[in-house]
Amino acid sequence: MKEVKLLIWDLDGLILETETLVIKYATSVLQSHGYDLTSDAIACSIGKRPLDAWQAVVDMLNITSVTAEQLLAESEALLTPHWHEATVLPGVYRLLIHFKTHNIPQALATSTPRATLLAKLSNKPDILHMFGDLTVCGDEVERGKPHPDCYLHIAKRAGVHPSHCLVLEDSPSGCQAAIDAGMQCIIVPSMTDKACYPKHSTTAIINGEGGGGRDAAAAMIPSLLDFNPLHFPGLPPFKDTICSTIPLQPEWRIKGTVVKGFGRGSKQLGIPTANLDAASLSRALAEAVTGIYCGWCNIRGPGAEEYSDEVFKMVMSVGFNPVFKQKQRSMEPWILHDFGGSDFYGAEIRLIVVGYLRPELDFEGVEKLIKQIHNDADVAREVLEREEYGRFRNDGFLLED
Ligand code: ADP
Ligand code: MG
Repeated sequence: MKEVKLLIWDLDGLILETETLVIKYATSVLQSHGYDLTSDAIACSIGKRPLDAWQAVVDMLNITSVTAEQLLAESEALLTPHWHEATVLPGVYRLLIHFKTHNIPQALATSTPRATLLAKLSNKPDILHMFGDLTVCGDEVERGKPHPDCYLHIAKRAGVHPSHCLVLEDSPSGCQAAIDAGMQCIIVPSMTDKACYPKHSTTAIINGEGGGGRDAAAAMIPSLLDFNPLHFPGLPPFKDTICSTIPLQPEWRIKGTVVKGFGRGSKQLGIPTANLDAASLSRALAEAVTGIYCGWCNIRGPGAEEYSDEVFKMVMSVGFNPVFKQKQRSMEPWILHDFGGSDFYGAEIRLIVVGYLRPELDFEGVEKLIKQIHNDADVAREVLEREEYGRFRNDGFLLED
């Protein structure tokens, strides 16, 4: 593996959560023409330039009544006023600032046209600022991803050989582009079906040497929070971890209602988790990476009247629970306090989530899962004592009426 001299970022799905917006408006445009946006169509379009993406959808769905150009015009008209609403994905600022601080050059190579890039980042100028003049857009190169043009273009402009470039990507086509450019690539997959991606390694360690070859250089990590610079020669390690946990910046503040879950927490695992209601989750979950977190918690209201002035430690799982093959995402704090077996369904729950512990893992069997969760709880109990996390214990958000 070669020393990393240039980090190249993709935009959509990696820096910005634009997928929700795009899918929403693409769905309504297609519906007005009598078609459904299938997951296959999403998979083949993601990461490409807008017109290439629509052409892929037209081909995949055998659409004859309307052209890709027209579909693009209709969806752009709907999307333009909303681009700035896209949120920044977790871990983005941490990485951008870390490498900026250490003078590692960073570039942006996106399929998005220049005008759309400016609209998407209009209220986030700090992001664009990170890249200086090292940005290239879909309308500034001859061929879009999965062709390697944009990556080769930006490497040349920066004066860095492709083998010294590390690309951060979320889409199969972008990953292919990076590999064909002869670069190393980290994939933070936005597609749940990993088979969509070029041949890769599923661990955080780079598979083989960088520099060309279909299966040479791509490695998957669950989220940017799991990016470890130590796996790459030339990249400085993070200094912000607290006993291997990562402080969330900013912390998340969530209010919700405790609802019935799958009933397996206490019964099957001996670990009760207070599931949050779907309504309060929608926004929080859109921004949350699946994984295990720690933080502070207050409960009040039905069944929890006596605890309204108390703040408890909690360890929380966000995600699909791979061991149980769950379809819907959930957010489930295990409050690290013994409530004597009583339930408080319907109570109001307030959370300040401060640290990320680890990605969600698929354990072989329930025994190993239980052991790991107890280990997570021990870590949470300990790190929450640290000033960086402990200062949220008395936060007004948790205790005010
Ligand atoms: P469910 O699947 O309905 O969430 P669980 O078996 O996970 O059921 O139990 C969770 C419920 O147990 C919570 O909703 C809450 O009412 C209660 N409970 C009791 N002690 C705790 C605790 N320490 N942490 C979280 N929930 C608890
Ligand atoms: Mg539960």
